[in-house]
Amino acid sequence: MRRLTGKVVVATHNPGKLREMRELLAPYGIEAVSAGELGLPEPDETGTTFAENAAIKALAAANAARLPAFADDSGICVAALDGDPGIYSARWGGPAKDFDFAMRTIEEKLQAKGAADRRAWFVSALCVAWPDGERAEVEGRVDGTLVWPPRGPAGFGYDPMFRPDGHERTFGEMTAEEKHGLPPQGLGLSHRARAFMLLAEKVLR
Ligand code: IMP
Repeated sequence: MRRLTGKVVVATHNPGKLREMRELLAPYGIEAVSAGELGLPEPDETGTTFAENAAIKALAAANAARLPAFADDSGICVAALDGDPGIYSARWGGPAKDFDFAMRTIEEKLQAKGAADRRAWFVSALCVAWPDGERAEVEGRVDGTLVWPPRGPAGFGYDPMFRPDGHERTFGEMTAEEKHGLPPQGLGLSHRARAFMLLAEKVLR
């Protein structure tokens, strides 16, 4: 498998994710320019899995920029809602990207079902694509419990509602370092950090 070096397009228009991806890539000396900064169009996410959507975004950006591209597709899956919102996690925030509203939607659906099962998991599918079509793909997952009301001002999206297994605090109550739990301090905690560690083994060392 080819090594990823130099300049990379991060195929996201989401500022929260761009910040996290830059933090993850910086220690490897990789300069990340975003698809937004390059004015690249956002492809339609027509896949039916996280992995398919990550590949669609990475290939589109690599083709348009003629540079290696790095894409993430991620979301939260709720056990009692048959895995929803899943690949539609961003859409549940509505046009205003209002995740207080999205978290309330999940809570209302759980209560309407009288669901005692509050298990959920975040998934991150990462794809690196080169302009010639070669790609590297990995997936990371973190399991946890949904709390109500949401807790903590940190992170983004559904972080304040998600308490990872083995921890007392939600992602919204953790610093970025704690949420990712990357080595050498941790063993990898967030879905994105776990996926990233797998990707680093494949293309960054
Ligand atoms: P997409 O991958 O851009 O389609 O969007 C994924 C959506 O899932 C985001 O907009 C967030 O709402 C949610 N999400 C993904 N990763 C995280 C995370 O680490 N914390 C909180 N929410 C997340």
